[in-house]
Amino acid sequence: MSDKKTRHILGLSGGKDSAALAIYMRDRVPEMEYIFTDTGKELPECYNYIAQLEAFLGKPVIRLNSERGFDHWLDVYGGLLPSSQMRWCTRQLKIRPFEKYVGDDNVVSYVGIRADENRSGYISTKPNIKPVFPFKEDGITKADVFRILEESGVGIPKYYEWRSRSGCFFCFFQRKSEWAGLLERHPDLFEQAKSYEKFDRETGQRFTWSQSESLEELAKPARLMEIRQATPKTLDSSRTLVSLLANDDSDDDECLVCTL
Ligand code: SF4
Repeated sequence: MSDKKTRHILGLSGGKDSAALAIYMRDRVPEMEYIFTDTGKELPECYNYIAQLEAFLGKPVIRLNSERGFDHWLDVYGGLLPSSQMRWCTRQLKIRPFEKYVGDDNVVSYVGIRADENRSGYISTKPNIKPVFPFKEDGITKADVFRILEESGVGIPKYYEWRSRSGCFFCFFQRKSEWAGLLERHPDLFEQAKSYEKFDRETGQRFTWSQSESLEELAKPARLMEIRQATPKTLDSSRTLVSLLANDDSDDDECLVCTL
């Protein structure tokens, strides 16, 4: 890879690890291009957080949008909602816009996977994209990520008060308690997510975000109560959000590719 033409790109997901990496790299690679691959279905807290980061980084975060949005692709896939088995959303709304932005240039892609994680994240098969893992190389762990965010003044995204990961508001990776959190915090988005679910009365086929129940079923008061009671960790005055998250590994298996 010739250094002359090499571009340096860091993808922000709206989550804590890529945000901390951006802060960590700001003065190390001044020519860094910061990008955010916007599915158009992110949480308002996520958009606010990207704006906050932009202020800290002192340069614009480039928003990459798919040429066609989620609804177009949903039609193309015959109304089949994405799922962990059929994850067309990530390919069409995250990977394609990223690879188009990179084109044929030689690129170093900075990935925010930490030293205390055992995952690989998105690694492009394109030979001109070389992934690097500064946190792994420098032994940066989750505790360090929180320290970097706190010391910078950027802090952690607000949605961590009720959700453990970044991504689309209807992401099928979210837990039941997070769906309940979406209903409580963003009832309009919950309704939007619900409107994507379809039922074929003739065949009995259901197209729902979660296989076990529809959002309408989940939103029933008795079910919500059950979900709340089964949620082991709650944020009370004796525990800070950071201390709660520091002991929670559930974000470590999040949408790997969506760390873009
Ligand atoms: S955040 Fe979830 S729903 Fe959105 S693109 Fe990623 S996997 Fe798909």
